[in-house]
Amino acid sequence: MSNFSLNKSELKSKYDVIVLGAGVAGLICGTFLAKHGKKVLIIERHSIPGGYCTSFKRKGFIFDAAVHHIGGCGKWSVVGRCLKELDISINFQQLDPMDSIHYPSFSIDVPAEIDDYVDLLMKRFPSEREQLSLFFKEFTRLYRATFSTERHEMLIKYQNLTYKEMLDNFFTDEQLKMTLSAQWGYIGSPPHEVSAIGMCQMLVNYLKDGAYFPVGGTQNFSDTITQKFIDYGGHIMLSSSAEKVLTEDSIIKGVTTQKGEKISADTFVSNIDPKQTFFRLIDKNTVDDSFLSKVENMKESVSFFLLYLGLDDKIDLKCLKRGFYHTSNNLNFSGSDWFYISVPTEVDSSLAPDNKQIISVVASSRDDYDDIDDWAVYKNKMKEHTINYLENLVPDIQNHIEVIDAATPKTLHRYTLNSKGAAYGWAVTVGQTGPNRLPHTTPFKNLFLAGHWTNPGPGICAVVSSGWRVANMILNK
Ligand SMILES: Cc1cc2nc3c(=O)[nH]c(=O)nc-3n(C[C@H](O)[C@H](O)[C@H](O)COP(=O)(O)OP(=O)(O)OC[C@H]3O[C@@H](n4cnc5c(N)ncnc54)[C@H](O)[C@@H]3O)c2cc1C
Repeated sequence: MSNFSLNKSELKSKYDVIVLGAGVAGLICGTFLAKHGKKVLIIERHSIPGGYCTSFKRKGFIFDAAVHHIGGCGKWSVVGRCLKELDISINFQQLDPMDSIHYPSFSIDVPAEIDDYVDLLMKRFPSEREQLSLFFKEFTRLYRATFSTERHEMLIKYQNLTYKEMLDNFFTDEQLKMTLSAQWGYIGSPPHEVSAIGMCQMLVNYLKDGAYFPVGGTQNFSDTITQKFIDYGGHIMLSSSAEKVLTEDSIIKGVTTQKGEKISADTFVSNIDPKQTFFRLIDKNTVDDSFLSKVENMKESVSFFLLYLGLDDKIDLKCLKRGFYHTSNNLNFSGSDWFYISVPTEVDSSLAPDNKQIISVVASSRDDYDDIDDWAVYKNKMKEHTINYLENLVPDIQNHIEVIDAATPKTLHRYTLNSKGAAYGWAVTVGQTGPNRLPHTTPFKNLFLAGHWTNPGPGICAVVSSGWRVANMILNK
């Protein structure tokens, strides 16, 4: 992995724009600004850029820390268009099938093309044929509306509806509703809680614009953007934590780092958790009370347990399809478990040495972050639970493991400072989506927010869009 960090002697005392955090939103925002001639500094506490979109290496195996694939990387979709604008080229492998869905009572492969998926569902659920056609038309219209800058009639129509309510309005077949709900783990809230708009943004993005894996791993995605940022003249300080944000009369003046540097700028972008931004970095007495109380009362999304396995080349993993494995047929999903399992070496064999293989598992976590007293005990319990589940799918797997690592919500918090290790910023519920999420603007005229805590929401495609929007807001100011 390259060392992108600035030489201390090159650090300026003043920039046009300072971006706090080198998550994907911060990187995209900074790169657009640098491309348009702004002097930009990105400050990142981790030693590598990318936030959740990073990888780590153990004994020759390259594991993706969190992100497994990216939506909308085709040339007409959001990520594809953004990379083109920035003149960035990344080699992606499109996933085909896009996914697979497993319940104890049935399984379905989700094809890479949305029309093939609709055909498959119509064949499987013939009594819902007409409704399926209406639903996908409506879902696609709603998806398009999420890109409009005005309050589109479709957004108004669905703004108070959960995804479950939307499905109930269209369908009666319970198995079909389970199928169309199975991928809710990609957005973090179950169908009876997740906003119909949020689920639509995530699902149609994958179904219509495809799911892609960046060859070489997700770090490659973040590194390539970082390199372009530097090529456009941007400065990045890694292993550098913003410790205080200095304010004066509703204006942000500067930032101090844990190493004691004090740097000023005309404009600031926070790509980090708003609770940290407004309650720790900024003196909260200088922040508008109603804004502070909004931030204080918002609820974080779920976090996950992650298992990373490096395996020898002697076990056949062909039967292990990438996708969601639900452990019960309960459509309510309250308290039910699922595992998202993938074999990234099936897509990109270069991630492991000598034809060896990788399994990556994301497990839903029933325990509340604040209720966990002993994280080591939790980690061992979840490790055992996950390996036992894998053993049912691939007998004898335990005897083929060469490398094992795991991450808990605490680990995700430690690496990113996202509150409670939140995977997706604020939970994507009806009360926290669209106009109810935090806007890009803040009570400080020269402070903007980019990333999954703000609009349009979580996931790499959405945060790319968020970083791009904020850059445009600054450039058009
Ligand atoms: C387990 C898991 C799996 C996921 N899988 C997918 C997937 O397959 N596809 C997908 O599209 N999305 C996925 N997501 C969601 C996606 O990863 C996030 O929504 C997205 O990466 C968030 O990007 P971001 O730019 O908002 O910020 P983050 O990635 O949260 O980055 C914030 C950055 O700010 C830095 N920072 C924090 N505090 C400071 C400070 N004081 N000073 C300096 N720097 C600081 C952090 O170190 C971090 O680098 C997944 C998330 C998780 C947790």
